Amino acid sequence: MPASAHTPSLLECCSAAAGLVHGMVRPKPADQRFLRSITDAGLPSPRSTVRVRALEQVTRPVPTPMIVEGLFTPRHIGNALTTFVIEHPQATFLVDPSVCDDYRRRAIAQLPGVLRAVVSPPPGTLSTVAALANESNLPAPDFALPTHAHWDHVCGLLDLPGLPVHLHRDEHRWISAGPIAPVGGVRDSLLDRPLVEYDLDGPPVLTFTRSHDLFGDGSVILVDLAGHTPGSIGVLAHTERGWILLAGDAAWHHLQIDEIRQKSGFPGSLVDFDRELAFRTLHRLHLARHTATIIPTHDATASNTLRTTLAHKEMTRTHQAPGGSMEA
Ligand SMILES: [Zn+2]
Repeated sequence: MPASAHTPSLLECCSAAAGLVHGMVRPKPADQRFLRSITDAGLPSPRSTVRVRALEQVTRPVPTPMIVEGLFTPRHIGNALTTFVIEHPQATFLVDPSVCDDYRRRAIAQLPGVLRAVVSPPPGTLSTVAALANESNLPAPDFALPTHAHWDHVCGLLDLPGLPVHLHRDEHRWISAGPIAPVGGVRDSLLDRPLVEYDLDGPPVLTFTRSHDLFGDGSVILVDLAGHTPGSIGVLAHTERGWILLAGDAAWHHLQIDEIRQKSGFPGSLVDFDRELAFRTLHRLHLARHTATIIPTHDATASNTLRTTLAHKEMTRTHQAPGGSMEA
């Protein structure tokens, strides 16, 4: 049977493993010159605010150096396949519908064997539809907006037939080109549903060179985070608690942004489309981190700050007066 998705060569796998070991000893240093060259274009003046919440998900502890190159403290960090919901006065939408029911057969089976074991979600992982059902007072989503076209950011769509998808045109072009998909577990999720392509045709915002104002009111701005995939974007949302930037997989954990550390060589170099560009994007996130609260999709600690149900449980347990919801 012909392959339906690209499989890394033996050489690519060996070089990823070698990169993991090398990166543990000698992590790639930040490019101070590039850092100094980045300008901050500031933020738009938003005319409305949105609510951002993270849906419930199981957290898996992963050894830190498997995520953040050359970093050994703390020993483990939490990783999760989180989906976010943004409520705007005009529409409610999902960012990164991450997991479908029966994900092993419907999505992970299309991944190369070398990645399957590393990316397999832990037992109890919730599908996006199951996590949605656990939320109260949540309007039905009007559309989905993946930060990029990887299986763990779109396959939840398989259980949401007909839900429209907004996708960056560069990303759609990349994932659709040719008979063999560049990555597995994605194309099926995009089939047979309305697809709205957009371009990053707006001005620079913060430290990012291109943008797209989703509702035209400055409250949700999509920014260019290319590198992990050709058309990766971040979702910059104006909330009552300030600006939040959902950063997809431009970083897997906030420590990468704080320390300017790229993803570990394995599996990082097998999943980053353009490692150099991804590293540059990390520099841009590093500089933006004081203006916006940056939430990498898989960073469980960061996304838990956007969990309403968790906030409720915490408050019930500690009997603290609600000093403000954890949702934003
Ligand atoms: Zn990804």
